[in-house]
Amino acid sequence: MLPTTPIENLPGVGNFYSSRLSKLELNTARDLVYHFPFRYEDFSQVEQIRDVVDGEKLSIQGVIWQIRSVRTRTGKFLTNATVADTSGTIEVIWFNQPYLTKTLKAGTPISLSGKVKVEGSRPKLMSPTWEIIRSPLTTDHSSLNTLHTGRLVAVYPETEGITSKWFRAKIALVLPRYLEKLEDYLPEKIIKEEKLISLPDALKKIHQPDSFEDVETARKRLGFDELLLIQLVSLKRQLERKKSRIAPKMKIEKDKIEKLTASLPYKLTTAQNRAIGEILADLTRQEAANRLLEGDVGSGKTIVAATAAYTSFLNGLDALFAAPTEILAFQHYKTLNEILTPLGVKVGIWTGSKKTGGNITVGTHALLSTFKPERQVGLVIVDEQHRFGVAQRAKLFLENTRDFTPHLLTMTATPIPRTLALTLYGDLDLSVLDEMPKGRQKIATFVVPNKKRNDAYKFIEKQVEEGRQAFIITPFVEPSESMVTVKAAKEEFEKLKEKFDKKIKLGLLHGQLKSKEKEEIINKFNANKIHILVSTPVVEVGIDVPNASVMMIESAERFGLAQLHQLRGRVGRGEYKSYCLLFSESNAENSINRLKSMEKVHVGFELAEIDLKMRGPGEVFGLRQSGFFNFKIADIADRVLVARAQQHARQILEKDPDLFTSPLLKEELDRLNPEYSQPN
Ligand code: ADP
Ligand code: MG
Repeated sequence: MLPTTPIENLPGVGNFYSSRLSKLELNTARDLVYHFPFRYEDFSQVEQIRDVVDGEKLSIQGVIWQIRSVRTRTGKFLTNATVADTSGTIEVIWFNQPYLTKTLKAGTPISLSGKVKVEGSRPKLMSPTWEIIRSPLTTDHSSLNTLHTGRLVAVYPETEGITSKWFRAKIALVLPRYLEKLEDYLPEKIIKEEKLISLPDALKKIHQPDSFEDVETARKRLGFDELLLIQLVSLKRQLERKKSRIAPKMKIEKDKIEKLTASLPYKLTTAQNRAIGEILADLTRQEAANRLLEGDVGSGKTIVAATAAYTSFLNGLDALFAAPTEILAFQHYKTLNEILTPLGVKVGIWTGSKKTGGNITVGTHALLSTFKPERQVGLVIVDEQHRFGVAQRAKLFLENTRDFTPHLLTMTATPIPRTLALTLYGDLDLSVLDEMPKGRQKIATFVVPNKKRNDAYKFIEKQVEEGRQAFIITPFVEPSESMVTVKAAKEEFEKLKEKFDKKIKLGLLHGQLKSKEKEEIINKFNANKIHILVSTPVVEVGIDVPNASVMMIESAERFGLAQLHQLRGRVGRGEYKSYCLLFSESNAENSINRLKSMEKVHVGFELAEIDLKMRGPGEVFGLRQSGFFNFKIADIADRVLVARAQQHARQILEKDPDLFTSPLLKEELDRLNPEYSQPN
C-alpha cells in the first residue's frame, strides 16, 4: 500500500464512504493515517462489576446473559442486556440501535466502556461503546487487543455517517500494511539529536496509545515533522521566489486612491493608512508580495484589501478575493460593490451558486479552481487564510500564473503574536491593524452562572423589544460541523423557541444548510425579520449587522479566548451598547477564571497570550483548533522547538538545496507541496 493509494481502494472503504471522507479532505491512504485523534477517552480502567461506582467512567468485560430490544411507547427502540463477570451482573441500555441484537447474543463475550449510573441499588451502563472479545475471563486485559474499549480510546474529528469507531476500526486495518512499506524520511542525525521516536512508532502510538506517555512521544515526533516540513517549504519558497518569479510592477495613482478613501463614510485609522502604504509599496515591486494582514474582528481589513484590489484594477490587472465561506463572500461582494462600482470597477462573484466574473471577483474555493479571469491577475487576496490549506494556496499560485506571479495578500483575525508568525513563515511580511476605528465601544462581557440563564433570556427579550437583535451560539459538540453538532443546534433551537415571546422571531443557521437557505436567513436577519439568530459555532464569520447587540455563547469553555473574542466581535458594530454573555458547562475554578478574562480584556492579541499561559504548551486550543498554520499536532507555542526545527531546515537546505541526498524527505515534501514537483 502506497501513501497515495486512493482511499476508496482501502479495505472496507469503497465509494460509499469515500465520498463522505472527502468532506474531511481525506482522499488517500496517507490522509487516513494522518487523520489524528483530537482527544482520547480514558477507558483503561477495567473494573469488576461489583466494584462499580455511580458516575464512574470505566470498562467492564464479561458475557452477555440476556439481550432484547423493545419498542417504547414513543416508538423508539430500547435495547436492554444483562452482562455478567465473575463478580456480579450489570444492566446495559442502548437507545435506537435495533440491529444490536443481530450481532450481540446471549453468550457473547463482550467488553464495554461507558459511564455508570446507579438507580436504586442497581448499577446501569448507559449507551456504552462495545466490542466482542475472545475471552471474558482473562486478567491480562491488554492481551485482548481491544480497540474501542478497555484502553485509551482515540476520538476523531467525525463527519456524517462516519464515527470515531469507524475510524478506529479502519485505521487498525490499514495501519499495519501502511507501516510495512514506510521508511522514515527524517535523517538519523536529527532523530538522535532531538530524541524522537521513529515515524512508524509514532503513527502507531498516536492512534493506539497504551498510555498518555505514548501520546506525548508520538505528538512530539509528528509535531516536529510538521514544523520541519513547513520550514522547509517556507525556505524553499523563499529561494524559488528569489530565483525566478516575477510579479507585475504596478503604478500607484495617488489621486484616485485618495478619491476612493474620500468617498467612504468614515476616516481611515492610522493603522489602516499604514497597512495600505505597506501593501501598495509591495505592489510597485517586481518581487511577488506575500503579506499577511492581521487585525481584530472589526478593525477594517476589508477596505485595506479593497484599496489594493482597486490599484490592481487601475493597472489593467484583475484581482481575486477569496473568502472561506459563501456567507463571507457575499458580504465582501456587497461591500466592494458599494465602494468600487461607482468608480467604474466591475465587481464579480464566484461561488458554488452564483457565477459572474468581474475585474475584481470575490468568491469561495470555486474561485480558485473554476474561475478563468479575462485579464492577467495582478493580486490575489485570501481572507481568513487559515481555513485554506497550504497546498491550496500553492495551487492557487500556479494556476493563475501565466507570464507573471500575482502578488499575494492574506488576511486573518486570528491573533498570532508577531514573533511567532515570523519564525514560522520566514518568507512572510506582516502588517498589523492594532487600532480599532473610532467610536467602537467595549462590549460588556459577563460570565453568567447557569442558574441565571432565564434572566439572560429575559434580558435578550428586553433588548429585542427595544428594537435590537441577538445571536445565540449553540453548544460546541465537536470540532467539526458534524451531524451531531447540527442535531444539537436543532434541538436547542426548538427549546429556545418555547422560551421567548411568540412575537419574537428566531432563525437557525448551520453549516449543513444549502447556500440559498443560508443566504435567505442572513438576509432576513439583516432586515430585522429575524430577531434572534441561533447558530452553530462554525458559522462564525461574515455577518455584519450593526443592529445586533447581544452575543450569547453556550459551552464557552470549549473555545479559545481568541475565538470567543472573534465571536464577540459580531456585536457592537453599530451605535448601540452591546453585550456578550458567556455560559460554561464546567464550574471548575480555573476554567471560569479563564473565561472571566474576557470580562476585562478586549484585545485579541492579549487574549491569545493569556490562553497560551493558562492552558500551557500543548493545549493552545484556540490556535491549534483554528488550524491557522494547518498544523494538526505541532505545538506552535513551543518556541524552542519551533526554532530548532527552523535551524535543522536551514542546515538541510544549505548543504543540499534540492535534497538530492535525502530522496525520502524530498518525496514527503513534494507530496505536501505539488508546486515543487513541477517544473517552473
Ligand atoms: P474586519 O477587519 O473584521 O474584516 P471589516 O472590514 O468588515 O472588519 O470592517 C468592519 C466594519 O467597520 C465595517 O462595517 C466597515 O465599514 C467599518 N469600518 C472600516 N474601517 C472603518 C473606519 N476607519 N472607521 C469606521 N468604520 C470603519
Ligand atoms: Mg473581515
